[in-house]
Amino acid sequence: MALLEIQGVTVRFGGLVAVNDLGFAVEDGAIHGLIGPNGAGKSTVFNCISRFIRPDAGVIRFSGKELACEPHEVILRGIARTFQNVELFRGQTVIDNVLLGLHAAGTVDILRGALRGRGARAEEARLRTRAAEVLDTLGITGYAPGLACGLPYGVQKLVELARALVSRPRLLLLDEPVAGMNSAERVDLAKTIRRIRDELGVTVLLVEHDMSIVMGLCDMITVMNFGSKIAEGTPHEVQHDPRVIEAYLGEDAENAPAC
Ligand code: ADP
Ligand code: MG
Repeated sequence: MALLEIQGVTVRFGGLVAVNDLGFAVEDGAIHGLIGPNGAGKSTVFNCISRFIRPDAGVIRFSGKELACEPHEVILRGIARTFQNVELFRGQTVIDNVLLGLHAAGTVDILRGALRGRGARAEEARLRTRAAEVLDTLGITGYAPGLACGLPYGVQKLVELARALVSRPRLLLLDEPVAGMNSAERVDLAKTIRRIRDELGVTVLLVEHDMSIVMGLCDMITVMNFGSKIAEGTPHEVQHDPRVIEAYLGEDAENAPAC
């Protein structure tokens, strides 16, 4: 069954058609890649799914229902995302940064209510336990009490991922998660993304330029160029598709999928 369905989505910025009549489906439980050269429209698609942008045409359905909510409600529906650039509150601790993911999901309102009532400490402890569990899953428990500023870049990326996961999303949108990481960090993060799918059952939609990561992780890949879908299939299929190879001519050799 498709967890996410995109049908006929078009986004225009003035005269530029950034996304052009795009359609694809993400199967429940899949790691699905969305790739294409710079400017292809990938981040714009993410912004449509998270409702930062309303498409000029088309429909997006999540779990069979049209996504027509406000941006802050998307997380309540079960969709979480990370951004192309890390955005942490640097003056706050790692654990508080992760708890902010629950704030975004509205759970902290429950906390506020509880603080006025009798179960305050128990409720706060429950939420902190949940945040600690996620840090543990990602292997960064040791950083929990420290400040977010000054952390190695790879750890900052994991904290952002923890913040996305703490609300128990069904779908995780990752926009270039390994950008800026060294090769050891990349391999580790790829394993973590696979574990998030395998152990937590989270479906993943991944935009990524690192083709060895994309080809190694994804079950299915949709390829865009100039806003349109130009190919779709398994990693093996898209790597050998002449339209895909042509689209990447002129890109860095290391970005090209036929590696
Ligand atoms: P990708 O993530 O695949 O690199 P984007 O979705 O960021 O591509 O951009 C697709 C196209 O839309 C590009 O030509 C980009 O310059 C343009 N674009 C993206 N966001 C905006 C915006 N807010 N206003 C105007 N043009 C935009
Ligand atoms: Mg982008």
